[in-house]
Amino acid sequence: MEHLVQWYTRLTLCRRTLREVLLPSSMVRVGLAMLQGARDEHAEALRAASIQLNIDIEIVELRSGVEVDSLLDCIVLPGGESTAMRKASQSESLLTALYSWMEQHPHRPVLGTCAGAILLANPGELQTPFLRAGISRNAWGRQRDSFEAEVEISLKTPSGESISPQNVKRDKFNHQPLPVGDGASLENTTSFHGVFIRAPRFDQSSIECTPVASLGEEIVGVLDGHRLALTFHPELTGDYRFHRWLLNQANLSQ
Ligand code: GLN
Repeated sequence: MEHLVQWYTRLTLCRRTLREVLLPSSMVRVGLAMLQGARDEHAEALRAASIQLNIDIEIVELRSGVEVDSLLDCIVLPGGESTAMRKASQSESLLTALYSWMEQHPHRPVLGTCAGAILLANPGELQTPFLRAGISRNAWGRQRDSFEAEVEISLKTPSGESISPQNVKRDKFNHQPLPVGDGASLENTTSFHGVFIRAPRFDQSSIECTPVASLGEEIVGVLDGHRLALTFHPELTGDYRFHRWLLNQANLSQ
């Protein structure tokens, strides 16, 4: 067993060194937490955003803590079900590794959507939260109380070239994104099509970081340093402004 661990550690180190040598430094390496939830939709949105910005990316699918390395430029925590994610993380310690990566690299951007926002605001008892904002799960009600609504956003996002969906590479399963909202038509406005699926709510009086999205009077997106947390699902729309923000920030911090 000990040999196996040593062998695996050596292999991981080799892989990192090889990456350092082989990959162009301008490439943005995005760590995507594959625990559960809207992972493929995020991957697709990231690919679309990278085309729009003309930035090369590598999407590193993270399933185990040992895959989280210091060469990742940014992280995405998808939406889904945070309890399922915490459970799925137990055997391979992915969340623990992601949290220590975030502590070690506070200037590298992180995007957490819905359940991902919950994991940032409430990472667990032994971990200092990554957002100065409290959050309550399922606070809009039950699954059937899910809704779509226009959200007002104030985050500065880089503009991008328009692309046709056919130009975005599908994954090996040819997963298609859900046809939700036509976000692209809102691109030049401060409006964003918000998809709220059994969404959490920020405890409004507890917010001590920058609001970046609101639904009427209610704050539904915050930025704390380089951590962006949204209680809705931009990855389920054709509007890639938040994904462009992430890649652009990652590119700048390289
Ligand atoms: N209700 C989920 C949770 O508590 C979050 C919902 C979502 O990510 N769409 O984890």
